[in-house]
Amino acid sequence: MPETVEWQPDGTPRSPRFQDIYRSSTGGLEQARHVFLHGCGLPGAWAGQPQWRILETGFGLGLNFLAAWRAWKDDPQRPRLLHFASCEAWPVAASDLLQSAAPYAELQPLAEELRQQWFGLLPGVHRLVFENGHVLLTLYIRDVKEALRERGFHADSVFLDGFDPHSNPAMWDRYTLKAVARHCRRGTRVATWTVAGEVRRDLAQCGFVVEKAEGLAPKRHCLQAVFDPAWEPRGSKPLDAIAPGRCVVVGAGLAGAAVAASLARRGWQITVLDAWAGAAAGASALPVGLLAPHFSPDDNLLSRLSRSGVRATLQQCLMLLPEGEEWRRTGTLEDRSSNPHRMAAQVPENQRPWSRAADPQQLAQAGLPRATPGIWHEQAAWIKPAALVRAWLAHAGVARQGSTTVARLAREPDGWQLADAGGAVVARADLVVLAAAHGTASLIGDALPLQPVRGQVSWAPQSPEQALPPFPVHGNGHFIPDVPLPDGTAWFCGSTYERGDTDRSERAQDHQTNLAKLSALLPAIGRQLAPSFADGSVRAWTGVRCASGDRRPFLGQLQPGLWVSTAMGSRGLTFAALCAELLAARLHGEPLPLERRLSDALDTKRSRH
Ligand SMILES: Cc1cc2nc3c(=O)[nH]c(=O)nc-3n(C[C@H](O)[C@H](O)[C@H](O)COP(=O)(O)OP(=O)(O)OC[C@H]3O[C@@H](n4cnc5c(N)ncnc54)[C@H](O)[C@@H]3O)c2cc1C
Repeated sequence: MPETVEWQPDGTPRSPRFQDIYRSSTGGLEQARHVFLHGCGLPGAWAGQPQWRILETGFGLGLNFLAAWRAWKDDPQRPRLLHFASCEAWPVAASDLLQSAAPYAELQPLAEELRQQWFGLLPGVHRLVFENGHVLLTLYIRDVKEALRERGFHADSVFLDGFDPHSNPAMWDRYTLKAVARHCRRGTRVATWTVAGEVRRDLAQCGFVVEKAEGLAPKRHCLQAVFDPAWEPRGSKPLDAIAPGRCVVVGAGLAGAAVAASLARRGWQITVLDAWAGAAAGASALPVGLLAPHFSPDDNLLSRLSRSGVRATLQQCLMLLPEGEEWRRTGTLEDRSSNPHRMAAQVPENQRPWSRAADPQQLAQAGLPRATPGIWHEQAAWIKPAALVRAWLAHAGVARQGSTTVARLAREPDGWQLADAGGAVVARADLVVLAAAHGTASLIGDALPLQPVRGQVSWAPQSPEQALPPFPVHGNGHFIPDVPLPDGTAWFCGSTYERGDTDRSERAQDHQTNLAKLSALLPAIGRQLAPSFADGSVRAWTGVRCASGDRRPFLGQLQPGLWVSTAMGSRGLTFAALCAELLAARLHGEPLPLERRLSDALDTKRSRH
């Protein structure tokens, strides 16, 4: 349940939990600008910088974020990337965000964009993406102290915001301020509205040089501080020393193209090499695939990772692809009859914005009995992977070079050299990212356990008299109806799964396997479509996935300047965009787009434990 906000008759938002107001009825935006932005020397301080990272202790109604975003948008000297990382234990409803921004015309369109991404904020870390990926909001949905334990980045500005220190003392105590200090580099500026003596004293003890500044009426004062401790802070080496340079990505599929776009947004010059002449010619040539969160009764690592991934990919689709031809946010129905945890159709209350028990109408639309243990995934879609790959590769700063097979990598004093099988140098770069699916193995030996897994999809043109479900259905196998193709619509079903097999030829036996899966998943549809399998009108697409042993991708650094993003398994659509942003964040020491624990669960080092 979202946090309750009481809107008083004069428009003041108030928290019944903390018995305090979020802000006064008027002047909210002016206060945000005066106290926080100007208090941290913004926008001047960020002029000409490649990135700027703002850390905020209490997101509240989001006014500081909206004000910072607005200032960034209006500033011709804005940094290429604005990170706003904010903690919030009690997120409000999207409607309250809108109501809060309503008095300010210049914030309203931004608040509306924020509203659209404001869903499914379960405890944890969530990355919301605006301005084509140049404004990144990372929300830590948890208590501020726990949130600040995530660490991992240095803030350039800190906004200390929250309810009054008397109403919510834990937000302002010395331990919280110490945790804030651990996020600061020497020179990081801090701003807050409170001038409470204890806060000033504790900030000073944590290494801040504090001064009272003139407030904006009705407040007399506000507080400004600079992190400049008399001691050398422990572990405070900047993590963000790497400057964007030349990068070669090996592999022009979902994984490689996503990395190319994420790094290009940060100013890298990227060349994407691929053995095939065209882009998306490997597993990412899959004509259409499903994007849906993984569900498990204990909400395991894969489930949590998949939600972060689904959010990341949906954002990319919304930003880059018109909905309809290339992707559609249909929602999907998962039939868990064949799952050992079938009773898990009772999805916990807090997961509802993502997934919930399917209702009788949805089951009926799929031709399934009422008693079927079904889950409806609201945040789910079908996507044509090649469309996403093309859109990512079209990013400024990304060049693609086809028909180039990389056979060898060599470290040179000033970077990396990539050569073909004949020893001819095909590229040089400061940074190399291997996203070559199972082809990665030939470049790194047995450093990672990568396994090829062949799969075949069966499909056929759809005719109007066929009564098919209006959305995709999955479980043991999947069925995707109504996919637009240049000459009509088609249905797709699959897939086979053969480990260690790299053969891409069509197999009649695999069509039978797909029909059997379809008939078990959707018996009525199986009966209806069986003639297409019998008369040979069904067609095939085959590809080879690259899998790890634990169904999680590998994302990490193998050697200085040599990274890998691969093993997307059967979830390239879920993981490619998330892994790309995680790679970029780790490389530059930015706030991570997901919890550190989840990031560690993707790391290449996990396989060596
Ligand atoms: C039958 C089937 C059904 C699937 N269904 C779904 C689904 O519903 N949803 C979903 O999310 N995912 C699905 N997937 C998985 C998805 O297709 C993959 O996870 C994804 O495409 C992998 O992307 P990638 O970029 O890692 O690999 P690829 O797209 O295979 O790209 C790797 C590229 O690296 C290149 N390369 C390799 N070695 C070299 C080298 N030495 N030099 C130069 N280039 C090299 C290759 O030519 C290739 O183009 C399915 C896969 C299959 C096979």
